[in-house]
Amino acid sequence: MIEVTLLGTGSPIVDPNRAGPSTLVRAGDQTFLVDCGRGVLMRAAAVGVGAANISALLLTHLHSDHITDLSDIITTRWVTTFTRSPLKVIGPPGTSAVVDATLDALALDISYRVGHHPDLTEGPTVEVEEVTEGVVWASDGVQITVGQTDHRPVTPTIGFRVEFDGASVVLAGDTVPCASLDALAAGAGALVHTVIRKDLVEALPVQRIRDICDYHSSVEQAADTAERAGVGILILTHYVPGIAPGQEEEWRALAAKTFGRQIELGNDLHRVEVHPGVCATNG
Ligand SMILES: [Zn+2]
Ligand SMILES: [Zn+2]
Repeated sequence: MIEVTLLGTGSPIVDPNRAGPSTLVRAGDQTFLVDCGRGVLMRAAAVGVGAANISALLLTHLHSDHITDLSDIITTRWVTTFTRSPLKVIGPPGTSAVVDATLDALALDISYRVGHHPDLTEGPTVEVEEVTEGVVWASDGVQITVGQTDHRPVTPTIGFRVEFDGASVVLAGDTVPCASLDALAAGAGALVHTVIRKDLVEALPVQRIRDICDYHSSVEQAADTAERAGVGILILTHYVPGIAPGQEEEWRALAAKTFGRQIELGNDLHRVEVHPGVCATNG
């Protein structure tokens, strides 16, 4: 079984009740954080996960809302571990530059702490792997495969497929429908997909907000992708605009027009168990 927890279901729009985009994936005794938006470690703490417990941080892309709390994760992991414990970060090309710049921004803080605590003899260590496709993780029965997504002009962007003990979960990140995501998601137990309500966003009077429609999937497009890929469960997140109380069934109905199996959506900390054999086809 793979456990998926929507840590943050928000977006760049600040919402008092929704943290920024981030999803927790637990497989066996391994814990993966997919993206690290605003407030992610607060939400992770609510399900008993700290920065020290993260097996790897997986980044779908480098849009600010998906990486706002990278600095917090780097520092918190550093100061809450007592043996050398590099943070592994797997992301698209550009990830190293973002990590290096973050460490540069933290340089003074690092000097204060190293100067103050005798047992801190070096700064945080971060191991970055930049990837665009292929198997990027194979450890104790957990395999993670990467495929490209389409969030142009943001490029390259990637999705992750996590497999463990016969169960599989694909995390698409921000993307429009594309053949490479269909291939990555084929036959998966669950697809975690970010979505926007284009019908609502296109009606807004601000062009800068309407601009986002051309590089995200609508609820219906995410459902179409899930249907084509034959996944067992469609998990929607990163709601734009945030789902207002009482509107959950309206969002679900839009996905259900083309996707006839299990649809999950909800608030931060919504949890889904993905068991083997829930997909429509054996991929
Ligand atoms: Zn994005
Ligand atoms: Zn986003």
